Amino acid sequence: MTDARRHPAWARVSAAEWSDWRWQQRNRITSLAQLERLMTPTPAERRGIEARMESFPFAVTPYYFSLFGGPDCPVRRQALPHEDELVTTPWDLVDPLAEDEHSPVPILTHRYPDRALLYVTHHCAVYCRHCTRQRKVGDAASAPSKAMFEQAYAYLRATPAVKDVLVSGGDPLSLSDARLLDIVARLREIPSVEIIRLCTRNPVTLPMRITDALLAALRGYHPLFVNTHFNHPAECTPEAGAALERLADAGFAVGNQMVLLRGINDDPTVVETLNRWLVRHRCRPYYMLQCDPVSGTAHLRTPVDTGVEILDALRGRVSGLAIPQLVVDLPGGGGKVTLVPERQLRRDGNRRVFRNAFGGEFTYVDEPL
Ligand code: SF4
Repeated sequence: MTDARRHPAWARVSAAEWSDWRWQQRNRITSLAQLERLMTPTPAERRGIEARMESFPFAVTPYYFSLFGGPDCPVRRQALPHEDELVTTPWDLVDPLAEDEHSPVPILTHRYPDRALLYVTHHCAVYCRHCTRQRKVGDAASAPSKAMFEQAYAYLRATPAVKDVLVSGGDPLSLSDARLLDIVARLREIPSVEIIRLCTRNPVTLPMRITDALLAALRGYHPLFVNTHFNHPAECTPEAGAALERLADAGFAVGNQMVLLRGINDDPTVVETLNRWLVRHRCRPYYMLQCDPVSGTAHLRTPVDTGVEILDALRGRVSGLAIPQLVVDLPGGGGKVTLVPERQLRRDGNRRVFRNAFGGEFTYVDEPL
């Protein structure tokens, strides 16, 4: 981050400290008093902060804070509580994906036959206001115990159908290198585990966490995937781009899971700009997720049609590499379904008439030999 971009409060911080992820973690803004020394929150933000400190606190790294603009800024809106979080609808849920119901042992969710989700920490560099796991994250008292880890490893050893383990949380890169490496090494010892995915927002909120030392140590455990979570071009800084490049150089397959958020990224041009940047930095836009109906996010949710319209606008305009799958994760643990714009206009026997990306009509005769 250029000095011009860095918030003046940290102008005298040395470059070495600023680019040290531990310094960023130690200096996170986590209280209203700290925040008010740096900026003037709006009355709606102040009321949101006061009301949510117990149920879902906020935390922002100096790096991510330095990207803040005015009250409508897409970065600020993702990070600061707002009084709109107090508005609930009859469809809101605390655990919308029923992860706790599908949890055979305390820190593991096993819903699909070949995949399991392992929660290794409830700490994140920044607490995203749209987080599906806000029932858990930010609660330091709920950190998984050693015994819970052993139960999870035992479950995975006894369940060889699980080939793909998502290491999640919270943010697993909040852990020390040693702790994270121990978890990855223990998973790699399980012969049936083929793929390990690290689910982390650190490339977005704390890109200095992607250190050469960590990558060198993790290289021995491939195939490793990284699922990250960029939501807006305002997050696409040179530091974030460099973090993605380092991950790709170290052999990681990197994918992005964007969440559609009202007034933040529910616009085809925003999604196109974001996805073009991701592809340039060797990160595949993987999912565009409908925001889960978690309590406190009604003001951020978009109609499902919005995602379909964005996909429709992207098709033909950008490379397929930059077009994600639109996914709704069904409430109640129903799993993911994908949506696509309707292209088949009609069918007449073996003739199918389609609308292409530019509105033209074309016929495909379905008559294999
Ligand atoms: S980084 Fe992920 S787990 Fe942490 S608050 Fe954001 S969305 Fe939730």
